[in-house]
Amino acid sequence: MSEKKPFQAESQRMLDLMIHSIYTHKEIFLRELISNASDAIDKRYYHALQQGDSGLGREHFGITIAADKDARTLTVADNGCGMNGEELESNLGTIARSGSLQFKSELESAEEIDIIGQFGVGFYAAFMVAEEITVRSRKAGEDQGWRWHSVGADGFTVEPCEKDETGTVIILRIKDNTEEENYDEFLESYRIRELIKRYSDYIRYPIRMDVETSRPKESAADAPEGEDDGAEPEWETVTETQTLNSMSPLWRRNKNEVTQEEYEQFYQDTFHDMTAPLRVLHSSAEGTATYQALLFFPAKAPYNYYNKDFEKGLRLYASGVMIMEACKDLLPDCFSFVRGLVDSQDLSLNISREMLQHDRQLKIIAKHIEKKIKSELKAMLDDEREKYNEFYQSFGLQLKYSLYAGYGMQRDLLLDLLLFRSTKEEQQVTLAEYLGRMPEEQTAIYYACGESTEQIRRLPQSERLEEKGIEILCLTDDIDEFLLKILHEYEGKEFRSISDAGLELESEEEKKSLEQQAETKKPLLEAMKEALAGKVDDVCLTARLKSHPVCLATQGGVTLEMERILSAQPGAAGQPPVKASRVLELNATHPIMERLTALQTENPAKVKDYASLLYSQALLMEGFPVEDPVAFSNMICELMV
Ligand code: ADP
Repeated sequence: MSEKKPFQAESQRMLDLMIHSIYTHKEIFLRELISNASDAIDKRYYHALQQGDSGLGREHFGITIAADKDARTLTVADNGCGMNGEELESNLGTIARSGSLQFKSELESAEEIDIIGQFGVGFYAAFMVAEEITVRSRKAGEDQGWRWHSVGADGFTVEPCEKDETGTVIILRIKDNTEEENYDEFLESYRIRELIKRYSDYIRYPIRMDVETSRPKESAADAPEGEDDGAEPEWETVTETQTLNSMSPLWRRNKNEVTQEEYEQFYQDTFHDMTAPLRVLHSSAEGTATYQALLFFPAKAPYNYYNKDFEKGLRLYASGVMIMEACKDLLPDCFSFVRGLVDSQDLSLNISREMLQHDRQLKIIAKHIEKKIKSELKAMLDDEREKYNEFYQSFGLQLKYSLYAGYGMQRDLLLDLLLFRSTKEEQQVTLAEYLGRMPEEQTAIYYACGESTEQIRRLPQSERLEEKGIEILCLTDDIDEFLLKILHEYEGKEFRSISDAGLELESEEEKKSLEQQAETKKPLLEAMKEALAGKVDDVCLTARLKSHPVCLATQGGVTLEMERILSAQPGAAGQPPVKASRVLELNATHPIMERLTALQTENPAKVKDYASLLYSQALLMEGFPVEDPVAFSNMICELMV
């Protein structure tokens, strides 16, 4: 007797959940086992084709289902690649893709979450309907068979066994009915047929089952005409092997013949996503490259999408044989969220991964696919804005990061897909929309950085711009300003931060009067600059403010927002700090100016204090902490008493 091994801790928790949570879709266990069987055949078939004269053709492969009501067993058998003892232990003793913490948190937020669908822990699903599972498997190329056995959460055993043929047999002993649950149905052939039709119809290998049918007895049916004695024909029960699935892969079928439900079902089964896709793209091409592609835009980003361990890629089939689970070269990084598959007749089955990278056909297909995805996204943006907004919520950041990472190289591909928040509209806007409604005399595209549109609206600098009817793009993601800096302009209009010191929004007249005032106020401005030495690089007058007395602007390339983000980067400590060159701008028409001018002769020491106060106010309004909150507070108190 072999030693009993416990499941890995995570698997045990998963099992517990699986068995004890009230599951809405117990039936999906069959789909999972059949998908595993089909994958295993894919692996063996592909291997056989690579080896050349193995003598194995597609027609040799299949999946067999058998139900035995007396023994209460349901058996799923395949002649795929099989597993040896070690593989049984590692594949069926641990969960392939766990993300266990994540699933727990998601489980708490959504009660009916389809754990299996999301985490692809297919095999375990069988424990929802079975109290005992036996797997007998023999790996291709090996002689020894192995038996894996488990009666649930307390563990499993693996030991050698007899097995004549390569492949895997999974025997489930189906649970007894309870008051709430009917398990008997999984032993009924009509129900099994129904489940296979619903979930596994497109599986590309025959799923066969011996089915009992009634038919008129041969002798009665063959009775010569005219000799009908009027007696009821005798019926007999015969067993015949039926193929239950239609086997035509969805992507090879005509678009018009596939329903939206079929696409969605296929997507959810194949890519383990519990939500229906936002968009389905089914296309085929002939010419420089011949291929069929079935692509899906998911509705939500997978939990690890923005992590390093996320792997992009499309499933790759060569003439219907799966040769790679996730072919990276078929998808550009910017569209890494797309799930789907490509089937091409042009690819050689024998090519290795390394050769694949250099395959010309593959490159052509990848280029086509990139274009298709782009035009589909653009169509969505133009015609189904709500849907696009939903898409952008999940994947917009990826578009921005990719454009930034490529130093703007992909601007033709991506720029018109970007959205930004704006002071003019509730929903996010495209650059083209901004440009389309911009006043003719406006020379630049204005933006501001902040936490939200509301915060940006409240900035002192915004008031004048809003009054002039100028729309401000509100940059709320860290990447945004860096991206606009490398893009520099859009359709000839430069991107300008509203905090830029040389914004030049003034009219010629305003400019002149400002220059005159600056001349007369020179000693005051100099004194303030001196008082703020080390904090700001300049103090000047501005016409850009309306009701507010002061604002903080920056000159040169680095803005306050960039300074904040760069200094928060890991590894920033120990590096020379990146500093924005700050300019304190005073509202030339604000009453505070008169007060400051008067103080300069009456009490120059006070000017120093006021300079410091105004600087702190400007910092606060920009959303930055004041440098010395205690001194700031004391100064305000002094003013109050
Ligand atoms: P997933 O299929 O999502 O990887 P499963 O828990 O369903 O997770 O299966 C775990 C692993 O066990 C599979 O990845 C595969 O390697 C192996 N496996 C499962 N069923 C079979 C089978 N019928 N034949 C060969 N290998 C199998």
